Amino acid sequence: MPMRPCWVEIRTRSLEENYRFLQTLAAPHAELLAIVKANAYGHSLELCAPAAVRAGAKWLGVTSVEEGLAARALCPEARILVIGGMFPGQGAAVVEHGLTTVVWERWQLDELESVARAAGAPAASLPIHLEIDTGMSRQGVSPDQVSAALARFVPESPLKLEGVMTHLFAADEADGAVTESQLAQMAEVLRRVEDTGLYAEWFNVGSSSALLAGQAGEIAALADRHGMKTMMRPGLVLYGLAPQFDPDFEWEPASLTAARARLQPVLSWKTRVTSLRSVPAGAVVGYNGTFVASEPMRLALLAVGYADGLDRRLGNRFSLLVRGTRAPLVGRISMDQAVIDVTDIPGVEAGDEVVILGTQGTETISAFDHAEATGTIPWEVFTRIGQRVRRVLV
Ligand SMILES: *Cc1c(COP(=O)(O)O)cnc(C)c1O
Repeated sequence: MPMRPCWVEIRTRSLEENYRFLQTLAAPHAELLAIVKANAYGHSLELCAPAAVRAGAKWLGVTSVEEGLAARALCPEARILVIGGMFPGQGAAVVEHGLTTVVWERWQLDELESVARAAGAPAASLPIHLEIDTGMSRQGVSPDQVSAALARFVPESPLKLEGVMTHLFAADEADGAVTESQLAQMAEVLRRVEDTGLYAEWFNVGSSSALLAGQAGEIAALADRHGMKTMMRPGLVLYGLAPQFDPDFEWEPASLTAARARLQPVLSWKTRVTSLRSVPAGAVVGYNGTFVASEPMRLALLAVGYADGLDRRLGNRFSLLVRGTRAPLVGRISMDQAVIDVTDIPGVEAGDEVVILGTQGTETISAFDHAEATGTIPWEVFTRIGQRVRRVLV
């Protein structure tokens, strides 16, 4: 049966090309973990996780154990890092399905250790990435508690300290003081790890912004001192968007310039014109009549609403593309429908394709355009596209 025409097209070939390009930016300093959390930023884990692996990703990053299990079913060979950590009682699934979890709480180490022992796991066989809180106050062991955490990795424990991780949360800022402080704290932590007689294979630091800011070399230099390898964790850039940097950046990093030229958007979001009507001057449109026709108008009804993720705040203040032309959204956006003004666009017919996010002809609407209009960020625009909007491989 044909379906309600509101869908997302996913070009996995673009994702693969983005990954390969980003790996050239990271090389020879860092290996990339492909962030596929939150259903691959709304792009479909099912389509995107295998695409990242095809492009060469050995590591995938997910939020939760649940997402990890879904990724494991799709990618049996990949290393899967649960960056949001596990919740109580999830340790058995972590061990059984070969997930690797980020830890920072004592109980997480307790639970994983006891589950691994119960499963007869040998010493140093369950890899763990220890997160350090270097200033974001979100998750992670505070640097002054690191010694206590490291003391858990005794030789007879099944736990293995495989990675030491932190999240650079201000790599897009022109004033690099925050990142500098974070890296200085990490340098101290890595020294502590070595002094404890432990070896962690991976220094796991930095997302899209750090990568495009060209920080891979600086980060890798820290890891090199301890014979560690560097892993970076890009998300947004994989999906084809370069984060906007602080406008006060005096010079644009070369890797950011290159990325702007090379990254290709992976997602397009589309609907169709359901029906058309002509209304006289004075007609009102939508709930509460927030739009009043000032002249006779031609209106097109669309099969998309806020339940599909089209932000209700876009009503009366954003345009979508039909016949290669921007058509303003008029009136309030309904749960399942929206109306555009096509008075000045000749020939619009029922069934015409309408681009909500993406390119039509020479016009493009980006996730940044959506985000700017509603005061948010592209990450939220992508992840709010509704679950009922089907993701189609193109
Ligand atoms: C989401 C996330 C990333 C990826 O961030 P982008 O800005 O999309 O590249 C990396 N690391 C952690 C810990 C995250 O939560």
